[in-house]
Amino acid sequence: MHLEIDSLYKTYPGDVRALVDVSLNIGPGMFGLLGPNGAGKSTLMRSIATLQIPDSGTIRFGVTNVLDQPAEVRKILGYLPQEFGLYPNLSAEVTLNHFTTLKGITDRAERKQVVESLLMKTNLWDSRKKAVGGFSGGMKQRLGIAIALAGNPKLLIVDEPTAGLDPTERHRFQNLLAELGQDIVVILSTHIVEDVQELCNEMAIIDKGQVVLHGDPRSVLDEARGRIWRKRIPRDQMTAYSEAHSIISTRLSGGQPLIHIWTDLDPGDGFEQVEPALEDVYFHRVSAGKSGPLE
Ligand code: ADP
Repeated sequence: MHLEIDSLYKTYPGDVRALVDVSLNIGPGMFGLLGPNGAGKSTLMRSIATLQIPDSGTIRFGVTNVLDQPAEVRKILGYLPQEFGLYPNLSAEVTLNHFTTLKGITDRAERKQVVESLLMKTNLWDSRKKAVGGFSGGMKQRLGIAIALAGNPKLLIVDEPTAGLDPTERHRFQNLLAELGQDIVVILSTHIVEDVQELCNEMAIIDKGQVVLHGDPRSVLDEARGRIWRKRIPRDQMTAYSEAHSIISTRLSGGQPLIHIWTDLDPGDGFEQVEPALEDVYFHRVSAGKSGPLE
């Protein structure tokens, strides 16, 4: 089944244009929606999840018109929002039991089996009796995914799931996402480029409410190949370099700025060509129109 988003617009009071003519066609597998904070990702996720109505445009999932038939969508939807509340005194097992009941699994034996399999899948089996109030950020996110998976969704939306997790927890969460069925549509919204690079077979970059790139990560990288050059420069020459080149990113390496530039021609001047990373493409796209390279 495909999710087809066509010409979506959303403007918040104060003329905040959160979505501007957003169109995307998303097939089964893991789709990464990448964009900086404030780009419009959550607005788009909430619209797909039937929690908010855009000003105009259409969303279809298979034959279902998402905006006109929200009840139909909710039956097949799993949604892990950026923030969600849990009852701190309940255990993971009781919490999941509660949500699977809400999802309509009324048969006790069946529910027990579903809860057990979700606890195993999300690696929470050993902690199933513990109160979730004492869970780490990563454990809470994994429980969130278990809840989102409870109704066996065909469309799963996860909004910024790894933000705030430490590297070990992030890795574990990525592995969990990677194991999700390739036959369902999974949309992963994130501002963390590596999450998309590692997990997604399709991706889009959204900036200031607009889709600025859509494709599979491999072709996206192919487009950048041969165009990314780097050089370590003295700190006081930053301004001169940013005037002379299209700098896409700057990071400190050994206390000195290491710049990446995007150019079709060999820039000479001691620049070294590097294999592109998705981060290079991302910064190239989202930094366009900004005034300075360090922003
Ligand atoms: P992201 O998830 O990419 O960070 P959001 O969709 O949350 O982006 O926000 C897009 C823009 O819309 C931002 O400028 C944000 O401040 C604004 N925005 C989001 N929600 C509201 C709201 N309820 N009212 C007004 N402005 C909002």
